[in-house]
Amino acid sequence: MEQNQIRTIRSQLLDRRERLRQITSQSGTNVHFLNLLKEVDSALERMDSGTYGICMVCHDPIEDEQLLINPLIKVCLDHLSNEQRRTLENDLDLAYKIQLSMLPKNDLLLNGWEVYYHYEPAGAVSGDYCDIISSKENPSDLFFIIGDVSGKGIAASMLMSHLHAMFHSMVPLGLTTSQLTEHASRLMCESTMSSHYATLLSIKAESNGGIEICNAGHPSPLIVKKDRLHKLEATGMPIGLFCDSEYSVHKTTLESGDILLLYTDGLTESFFNDEEYGIDRLSKFVLRNAALPPKELTNKLVEDVNEYIKGTHKRDDLTIMAIRKS
Ligand SMILES: [Zn+2]
Repeated sequence: MEQNQIRTIRSQLLDRRERLRQITSQSGTNVHFLNLLKEVDSALERMDSGTYGICMVCHDPIEDEQLLINPLIKVCLDHLSNEQRRTLENDLDLAYKIQLSMLPKNDLLLNGWEVYYHYEPAGAVSGDYCDIISSKENPSDLFFIIGDVSGKGIAASMLMSHLHAMFHSMVPLGLTTSQLTEHASRLMCESTMSSHYATLLSIKAESNGGIEICNAGHPSPLIVKKDRLHKLEATGMPIGLFCDSEYSVHKTTLESGDILLLYTDGLTESFFNDEEYGIDRLSKFVLRNAALPPKELTNKLVEDVNEYIKGTHKRDDLTIMAIRKS
């Protein structure tokens, strides 16, 4: 675990110790609080002696994620008791349910746009961000947003929910996609999790077909216009890396039947025998199937990737969103 993460945990533990000391100084204290105080003391002692984050059974490092979930833990995943394992599984289950509740409605026809998405974590939770936002304040504008937080697991999923909250509070302010991206980057950069960053694609779509695309270091979205494929390269760095990043936008107009495909790198970087699915294969697939409605296109693409990896485990979270001007 990185030193700055340990410092963050340490200050949390010191804060908890203070509160526990206040509670346990009163008479008739619950034995549970006394035991908790002992555990917090013991974790702080392990930090001082340099043994924090080392499994007491096998002496290997404990997974960072486990320490972020429970900073008092003393053993690695392999050496949890059955009860501890069950508790962890329940926590992860609940975290994923919360994550699913943050996804937008699927299979939509909104403001003249047909949309369908596929969202699939590689592990128990996903670090991908997938959203469709409209606001009462600007009902004619619709935002499609896809992001990929660096790293995996619980920490990445927490940042994903952070992005979700940021965009839902910023979209009603009527900002452009470049302003949204710049604000999100600064907020993320200034937050305590500054060791993380995210690639992000935000698209503002008007009901007349006009779209504005801001791409912060994200894999190129594909557009099929009248049987011709266009790749839109990134217009800036991933968000969260630099506090004052600026972003430019692509603008174009889609006609009825044109397709826009967004995805995270879990798609193009799906591997079989060390060879990735790749942008070329994806481009050909999209050109061949551009006449399909978004739902069929997305499902067929997921099938194609699953066929490609031949049942091997997906290494990364996967998100695909197909959008068609109706
Ligand atoms: Zn162990």
